[in-house]
Amino acid sequence: MLGTDFCTGYNVSSLLKKFFSCFIIQGSCSVKEISTAGFRVNYFKYFEIDVVNGKGTRCTLFVSGCEHACKGCYNQATWPLDAGFPFTDEVADKIISDLCDTRVRRRGLSLTGGDPLHPANVETVYQLLMRVRNECPPEKDVWLWTGYTIQEFTPEQQKVADLVDVLIDGKFIESRKDRKLLWRGSSNQIIYEFDRSDAWWKKK
Ligand code: SF4
Repeated sequence: MLGTDFCTGYNVSSLLKKFFSCFIIQGSCSVKEISTAGFRVNYFKYFEIDVVNGKGTRCTLFVSGCEHACKGCYNQATWPLDAGFPFTDEVADKIISDLCDTRVRRRGLSLTGGDPLHPANVETVYQLLMRVRNECPPEKDVWLWTGYTIQEFTPEQQKVADLVDVLIDGKFIESRKDRKLLWRGSSNQIIYEFDRSDAWWKKK
């Protein structure tokens, strides 16, 4: 989905780890997991400081679970819904706290994966974004990468997308891979920026 190591064949995480702190918060059986509709939602990684996935300094959450199976996907380990760690209340609290941190100012939150809009993930991602909108400064922006196109969104996926500022859609198509592209891995993927004036995304 994106110019990250997960969706384009690029491996930037090794570089990232050299220069920025990477935090993986491991879930624990003793803490409450955020779970909706009987699904246990997992995340694969969380970077509390990230300058690769979107504009500016950001927090980035890699949500586990992807059903697109794109040829050339760099990190197939994110595909299973049970990959990584349980997404608990504590992880959500950490993200909110990082976004509100005034010592290291983040421009916003990036959601990638895996696919944050996998049907099993949408309700939890929606709850997280509602917290971001209600508890964080209003200028924080949200970027989201998904393998679904906006034309095929379900109402549940659309509900999440309505809380997003920048959305990059579409599967990674290896034959259209282009390393010169910004924020996306293949030329079929489209970057949309939400236009508040008519409440819809505009192609960037
Ligand atoms: S959308 Fe495609 S490239 Fe992105 S994680 Fe899923 S399979 Fe990999």
